[in-house]
Amino acid sequence: MHNSVKNLLLIKDQIEKYNSNIDIIAVSKTFNQNDIMPLVEFGHMHFGENKVQEAQDKWPKIKMQNNNINLHMIGKLQTNKVKFAVKLFDYIHSVDNIKLAKKIAEEQKKINRDLKIFIQINIGNEEQKSGINKSELKEFYLKCSKEYRLNIIGLMCLPPSNKNSVLYFKEMEELNKFIGLKKLSMGMSADYLDAIKYGSSHIRIGSKIFGSRN
Ligand SMILES: *Cc1c(COP(=O)(O)O)cnc(C)c1O
Repeated sequence: MHNSVKNLLLIKDQIEKYNSNIDIIAVSKTFNQNDIMPLVEFGHMHFGENKVQEAQDKWPKIKMQNNNINLHMIGKLQTNKVKFAVKLFDYIHSVDNIKLAKKIAEEQKKINRDLKIFIQINIGNEEQKSGINKSELKEFYLKCSKEYRLNIIGLMCLPPSNKNSVLYFKEMEELNKFIGLKKLSMGMSADYLDAIKYGSSHIRIGSKIFGSRN
């Protein structure tokens, strides 16, 4: 069995004790088709990329031949790439401004697609981080769902990297309840167990499945 498949199975085993209804997104950024195919052939269905161009180079053919695959856009999305993103991805985790929301709505309409979307929250209020401020969430959510009719399924965050994530995850769970959403995209290789304890439904795992990135 390929290492990445072994790693995936270990994670599955470990999280089943807490919640068996979690989607593990295998984050394949920087890895190539040879690294990805063992997981595809094993039947894994959720994969994540953080750059549109890189995803376009790797995924169209694999998706064509495996139509049960769900591709997740987890990185910053520029409006000039939306057209391509909406064609290729099934989920976008990083919606955090009105211009982007509007553009996604327009491009989806053109090709009759309806992606599942997370709103990214800047949960640590970090200057350099993407995501909307907590205080703007309600207004932003209403605009996305009512005006642009986006299929918002939940919230996503990347907590500050040098701190314990637990308090941020707890706050995300509360925010999600407050807004009335069901899904939460949080938890990476280092902190996915904590994320699950606070209701994460989508964990985004890269290095713990594929090995370290250069
Ligand atoms: C790279 C990345 C991950 C996965 O990180 P690992 O620590 O390798 O698990 C998760 N989420 C986002 C947004 C990423 O860019």
